Amino acid sequence: ATPTALLVGTGRGAQLGVLIKGPEILESTRRVDTVVLDKTGTVTQGRMVVEQVVGDDSTLRLAGAVEALSEHPIAQAIAAAAQQEKAGLSPDAEAVGGDGLVVGSEQVLDFVSAAGGGVSGVVRVAHSGLDLSPRVLVGRLSWLAEQGMTVDGDDQRPLRDAVAAAESSGATAVVAAWDGAARGVVVLRDPVKESSAQAVAELKDLGLRPILLTGDNPGAARVAAEQVGIAADDVVAQVVPSEKAEVVARLRAEGRVVAMVGDGVNDAAALAGADLGLAMGTGTDVAIEASDITLVRGDLRSAATAIRLSRQTLRIIR
Ligand code: ADP
Ligand code: MG
Repeated sequence: ATPTALLVGTGRGAQLGVLIKGPEILESTRRVDTVVLDKTGTVTQGRMVVEQVVGDDSTLRLAGAVEALSEHPIAQAIAAAAQQEKAGLSPDAEAVGGDGLVVGSEQVLDFVSAAGGGVSGVVRVAHSGLDLSPRVLVGRLSWLAEQGMTVDGDDQRPLRDAVAAAESSGATAVVAAWDGAARGVVVLRDPVKESSAQAVAELKDLGLRPILLTGDNPGAARVAAEQVGIAADDVVAQVVPSEKAEVVARLRAEGRVVAMVGDGVNDAAALAGADLGLAMGTGTDVAIEASDITLVRGDLRSAATAIRLSRQTLRIIR
């Protein structure tokens, strides 16, 4: 039979915004000594803001059209910025844009999303009078290269420089390509959540070692880690979704008892593979389903609350 204290513990958790799938989960929570934190959407706001666009007018417009079909935080920021730019155009600009494309609505066909890499789609510009429907790719430079896009030509030098500069400053840069080559860069920044630094301090106070895990570039990862107080040695960057689960498995093989906190589709395997999976309530359904605990408020401090609660609850039982 389930001890009453465990039921009381899960009830208390619900009041605190910590939804625990079953009372038995409190038991595994108690032994956790390592907490792996996804960066985007977990430690950071997961809301990117477009900071700079390198390339001609088509870059934001075409990238925005494709990204409108993706749920990734990068995509939402680019789609929003493209919408804003359109709204800002005067009616006189209605006829022909600077790049010769008529300003109108875009239709996207054959959308494809590659987790951890980028997205692509065929963008048809309505009322253009021209038959322009390039396949537009938006994503990591290395992924674009894998897709056969030219990224290393002389024409791409300003783009490569912009990506390098953005990444060394802790920003994220994605590249837009069409007609066989990279043609523009969108620089974005995702600020850390206000409560993340305090959350990491609380997790450390509980004796846990925090590790930052991200598919993002090392520069962005390093800056985020610095801002919340995670040691540079405890940052694992530029991992694809399947590798996230491998990192968790490796830590467990070293004898660590691992909690994983995440929010994305790309975190699901790692969340399921951890001793304890905690999903941000603000995250995707897939992450929530793969987890043992849901942090309703999407606040990382709730992860510390969950650990504290389980320790208190089990102290009562013993
Ligand atoms: P994280 O682990 O930080 O949540 P992801 O694994 O989701 O990151 O993405 C890793 C990288 O893949 C991103 O930094 C970006 O370069 C690229 N990427 C993924 N999805 C998209 C998208 N919709 N648009 C552009 N780039 C993307
Ligand atoms: Mg994420």
